[in-house]
Amino acid sequence: MAQKQKMLGFVHTTQRMPDKRTADERRRDFREIYARFTDERATEQANRCSQCGVPFCQVHCPVQNNIPDWLKLTAEDRLEEAYEVSQATNNFPEICGRICPQDRLCEGNCVIEQSTHGAVTIGSVERYITDTAWEKGWVKPRTPVRELGASVGVIGAGPGGLAAAEELRAKGYEVHVYDRYDRVGGLLVYGIPGFKLEKDVVARRHRLLADAGVVFHCNFEVGRDASLAELRRRHAAVLIATGVYKARDMEAPGADLGNIVPALSYLTASNRVDLGDDVPEFTDGSLNAAGKSVVVVGGGDTAMDCVRTAVRQGATSVKCLYRRDRKNMPGSQREVAHAEEEGVEFVWQAAPEAFLGQGTVKAVRAVRIHLGVADATGRQTPQVMEGSGFEIPADLVIKALGFEPEDLPGLFGEPDLKVTRWGTVTTDPRTRMTSVDGVFAAGDIVRGASLVVWAIRDGRDAAESMHRYIKAKTAAGILAVAAE
Ligand code: FAD
Ligand code: SF4
Ligand code: SF4
Repeated sequence: MAQKQKMLGFVHTTQRMPDKRTADERRRDFREIYARFTDERATEQANRCSQCGVPFCQVHCPVQNNIPDWLKLTAEDRLEEAYEVSQATNNFPEICGRICPQDRLCEGNCVIEQSTHGAVTIGSVERYITDTAWEKGWVKPRTPVRELGASVGVIGAGPGGLAAAEELRAKGYEVHVYDRYDRVGGLLVYGIPGFKLEKDVVARRHRLLADAGVVFHCNFEVGRDASLAELRRRHAAVLIATGVYKARDMEAPGADLGNIVPALSYLTASNRVDLGDDVPEFTDGSLNAAGKSVVVVGGGDTAMDCVRTAVRQGATSVKCLYRRDRKNMPGSQREVAHAEEEGVEFVWQAAPEAFLGQGTVKAVRAVRIHLGVADATGRQTPQVMEGSGFEIPADLVIKALGFEPEDLPGLFGEPDLKVTRWGTVTTDPRTRMTSVDGVFAAGDIVRGASLVVWAIRDGRDAAESMHRYIKAKTAAGILAVAAE
């Protein structure tokens, strides 16, 4: 029989993460760096939770996971129930458990962390629960009880589009997902490297959705293979979940030299090689760091993934140039610590001034940055320190300065699709509907570059809204849909 646990174990049990592979081992392959919790460790760590009356972990989880409940069930070894509770609010708990920046979300706000005892290891337990559920066969396709006789279209097979697709299919819609890539998963497959998220974890989610009856149209680019207007004719409602892909560029002398490459091209090539694809730009060395001195410019998650990928490809040295300091960087502190363990050198408060070389880059000329008074957003303003120039040898420079949306109204042939001045799609915050009737939007294309867990939240909310919209149209006699 399941043991009733007292919880509050943090008073006698210290925080322990799952076993981490040594940096030396990690540098040699693209496999995930953490092992799964053993059953004993998961129970022990879940039992540290103090079952707060107002759980700040849950408040700061974008999908509002019932964290205290599934921690208690795990501590009591009631794993199937823990899985049921966990999957009720999150379509991909094992993915979030691996790649959410927990130090900024649930774990960073755990009261035990705040009282300096070290947070409950929420992410690792979440991953453990669902990985176990997969192993035990508890994860089942969410086929509907009955078909509603209406179809919906989802543009983009990233986490936002996939979460919406699963919810809509479970309600009984015929769901068609269109993606311009050849594989399903968006940045989960082609952005985020395998050492954070192994690709078969995403592939099994793809298979599950296909088994539930979701129809995938890969290599299908909306704007090229069909206009938005055509998709609106095919479907009762359409969701735009296309993410943001236009790389921000650097403006400095020499920025057009050879071997200065955008982060996503570099990471996509590496992920494709890891998946067994033939990638000519990798084979010819242009997107391969092996034997090179690498400089990555930027301080977000993408920059962290680039430096750690370069280490694994066999770069001779890897430096990360970021204009602010460690505590002000947007990337997760955990990722910085992993990168440092793996041999990456951070050059804080430094920015490129020029790129030097003939044809291809040979060095970066950088300047030191002083962080001045805080601006209206509360962030200190970076100021160049006169006469502080210095050179860093580099034969591969990777630009990781963030992403912006593409021109969707132009690409989709839909001038009525309203966007903000940053190019993100404007939606009604209550309904998630865009300015075009029956067209909804979710994920990075609405928020700008954000997080997987926010895309999932948006996809779920959009699915609810699309369902309400179709029901209202049906009630008004505009659409013919079977009653629920
Ligand atoms: P995407 O995942 O970008 O998916 C959009 C999909 O739409 C793509 O498959 C694309 O091919 C498709 N598409 C685009 N245009 C069209 C079109 N015209 N027709 C058809 N299909 C189209 N977040 C985290 O939470 N943790 C991390 O560790 C993390 N690491 C990251 C590392 C990198 C390198 C990057 C770039 C991002 C990272 N993120 C991370 C952010 C996270 O990946 C995104 O916030 C998330 O994937 C957004 O989901 P989405 O569904 O909105 O878009
Ligand atoms: Fe934490 Fe992310 Fe899981 Fe929420 S989804 S509990 S933020 S790891
Ligand atoms: Fe448990 Fe921490 Fe959440 Fe409190 S904040 S319920 S201790 S995980």
